[in-house]
Order: sequence, then structure tokens, then C-alpha cells
Amino acid sequence: MEIKGIPCTLKSPIAVRLIKKFLAEIHKKHSIDFQKIKSKTTLIKRVPKKEIDLGTTGQVIKVNADVYSEAFSARVVEDIQAEVICEKMIVCIDETIKDPELMFITIAHEFGHVCTTEKDLARRNAPSDEWASEATADWYVYKWGYGRRSRKIHVKYPRHLLHHGAMPGGTLTDNGITYRLTRNFVYRNSSDPQKKINDRILELISKSGISISDIFPLKQ
Ligand SMILES: [Zn+2]
Repeated sequence: MEIKGIPCTLKSPIAVRLIKKFLAEIHKKHSIDFQKIKSKTTLIKRVPKKEIDLGTTGQVIKVNADVYSEAFSARVVEDIQAEVICEKMIVCIDETIKDPELMFITIAHEFGHVCTTEKDLARRNAPSDEWASEATADWYVYKWGYGRRSRKIHVKYPRHLLHHGAMPGGTLTDNGITYRLTRNFVYRNSSDPQKKINDRILELISKSGISISDIFPLKQ
């Protein structure tokens, strides 16, 4: 079967219907992203059972286009992992997800990974590549107008913080450092807000030409 010209081996009618709906909406409202999705996605398939058991609802596997066509016939596609740098991708969706809303947002998130560029990743200012990648996929979900729905569904089904990173407006602490994710999906180190304020005050004082000893005279 093909959905908007993309080969799809999913069997679940709900999954197929939701992917059709998602791609139709992107085609209509975000045609550049749709072209990116169409040219980069070689296949939509189910998440391998062993990954579902680990709690994966969706994933994107990068494939080398040439390796892919040989490998697919040999059915070893799952073994070609993200180390291969190329532009072609396989989108995997767990078609056994019970809640259609969770499935829809998962579909949008995975296609957010497909649309991700190096520039998008750099903009996130994230402390790890994984958080940059996850925040970018979500940035697309919000850009496409599914932000409120994504937030709601991930409150209902919380995601693994250390894999997905923070939600926009939220914070998380890793290795003793607290990061805040802004509403534009940019990470900020917010470990010591008081230090930031102090640094800003010192900066303003030095610009003003007033000596610090005029403000805080030394006690004799
Ligand atoms: Zn992801």
C-alpha cells in the first residue's frame, strides 16, 4: 500500500487512517515540510516487537538509499542503524497503540524527526544530541499546530524525561545542572538564576561608569 506515494506496510486501519489524515494536513498547510517528508521517507512500517517491549511507540531509522534497497529484500532493515549518514528514512509506528490521539501525536513526532535539519538541531542549544533531536521533533509538532494536543497527551502518558528532555516551559536536571526549555524549544542553563542576575547587574554597573565602591562603600 502507498499513502500519498509513500510505501506503507502497516496493517492497522486506524494507523493507516491517522497517517493519511496527518499527511493530508501537512500537504495542505505546510507544503515545504510535506515535500521533505515525501522525498526522505522510503517506508512506513511497524515498530519491531522487541522495541515495543522496551516502550518505544515510534522511531525513525536512517538508511542509506542503496543499502536500503538491497537490505529490504534481505529483511535486515532493522540492523541498519542511525550510524549511516544519509537523507533517506524509515518511519516506524507502533500500530498497536490503543489511544488514537497518542498514535496521532506519535506519528507527528516521528515525521518531525524526518524534517529535522542540522540548523534546527543547532538552534536548540541542547546539552546533548538526543535532547536536541527530541526537542526539534517536538518543535515541528508545535509548528504544525498540534502543540496543545501534544502537551495534553504527554501529560496523560508521561514520556521518559532523560530520553525526550523537558516539555516547553519545563525544567529538568541532569548531572547537577538544571536546564529550562523555552517555548521556542531552546535549552537554557537555569541552574543558578541568582548568579545570572548578579552578572547582569555587574555588567550594567560597569557600562554606567559608576564605580562599584560608590555603591557599596568599604567599611573603614
Ligand atoms: Zn523522538
